[in-house]
Amino acid sequence: MTTPKLLIGCIADDFTGATDLANNLVRAGLRVVQTIGVATEPLDLAADAVVVALKSRTIPAADAVAQSLQALAWLRAAGAQQIYFKVCSTFDSTAQGNIGPVTEALMDALGADFAVATPAFPDNQRTVFKGYLFVGDGLLNESGMQHHPLTPMTDPNLVRVMQAQCRRRVGLIDHAAVAAGEAAVRARIAALRADGVGIAIVDAVSNADLLRLGPALKDMPVVTAGSGLAIALPANFGIAPSTTAAVLPPAQGLRAVLSGSCSRATLRQVAHFQAQGLPVRSIDPLRLASGADSVDQVLAWAEPLLASGPVLVYSSADASAVESVQQQLGTQAAGSLVEHALAGVARGLVERGVRQLVVAGGETSGACVQALQVSRLRIGPQIDPGVPWCHAPSDVPGQPGLHLALKSGNFGSDDFFTKAFAQLA
Ligand code: ADP
Repeated sequence: MTTPKLLIGCIADDFTGATDLANNLVRAGLRVVQTIGVATEPLDLAADAVVVALKSRTIPAADAVAQSLQALAWLRAAGAQQIYFKVCSTFDSTAQGNIGPVTEALMDALGADFAVATPAFPDNQRTVFKGYLFVGDGLLNESGMQHHPLTPMTDPNLVRVMQAQCRRRVGLIDHAAVAAGEAAVRARIAALRADGVGIAIVDAVSNADLLRLGPALKDMPVVTAGSGLAIALPANFGIAPSTTAAVLPPAQGLRAVLSGSCSRATLRQVAHFQAQGLPVRSIDPLRLASGADSVDQVLAWAEPLLASGPVLVYSSADASAVESVQQQLGTQAAGSLVEHALAGVARGLVERGVRQLVVAGGETSGACVQALQVSRLRIGPQIDPGVPWCHAPSDVPGQPGLHLALKSGNFGSDDFFTKAFAQLA
């Protein structure tokens, strides 16, 4: 069935970020489908919102703009009434970054003279106050993000960061206005407009702030935000939170976890799974590189175990082990070697009957989804903030689809890998 009109059309600049946004939209009551890249044809699944997952966060700005405009064209053709450009809740965008150029390109295409931008995601401790982004109790530039290999965030003031990327003037809708509610926000927007400001960073330190902000954004053609703002927009379309939006087909088949994330939360999740006495198999990049280990060997290990419960295959390692591997193989080479291997394991496991698969790691998830030739996902119930179960319908009529949970590295509680399957059951 084709949806007559999409309410919200979303463009996400990375893969797990797309799922994170979709998750919040579903919790707010929308039926959501995520497409991997821009779909080539109209959607055949009923949806109130579509999230187009791009991989445009760190590519050259001109390419990010071109891909985002292509996504915009598809979403407009599907009738989208508001466009949501989803960016990272830690902004992940330096002066050379893409958030400003893409926001302005979308505004130009939509004829919008004003847009807001806020990465606030209070559920995950990302808050904005006086335009400064906090991660937990500290500023962005003290959160570890100042050392990010691709997008070092050394300035926590988002008005300055955004201004460095934009032609339009950037201003601030501060907490005083947000706390006072819709009328105050609208008055602040009018004042900023009169001052020649085209884009405003918005303060928000709680979900209540976002919910107060939402009504003032009704009819704004494009918003740029982390996933947090998603909780506040569906009400503008008369939609209330419900559990029916999150219903997926029943789960069946065998279960497995793949982890290529070396983030601290994932390392704890791997240790927790192992401590339950469940079967685990590590992949060592150096042994892969030397040919001493292979995808076939991993699959031969997994095959007899799958019938008894979930297995975990992981390359996750602590920072010193990763650094040593990177020195020997090169950072890029080590990463793509591991991604390729885990993607091969994902394909082999699905061929062996796995139909419930948890993948940890943003890049790792992208590689696995690509290897599995998944082109669209229906978004289901949340497992932990930012991570829902998803369902990829089979292209073969009558064949069961695949349930996938794609976890960004630092998301999820320590028992995530076992909790996820318990929830699906
Ligand atoms: P996260 O979401 O935690 O950032 P990603 O999957 O996005 O996780 O990134 C992890 C990267 O590290 C991937 O490119 C992965 O292939 C690579 N990697 C995984 N394990 C190892 C390892 N043991 N040594 C070196 N690189 C690794």
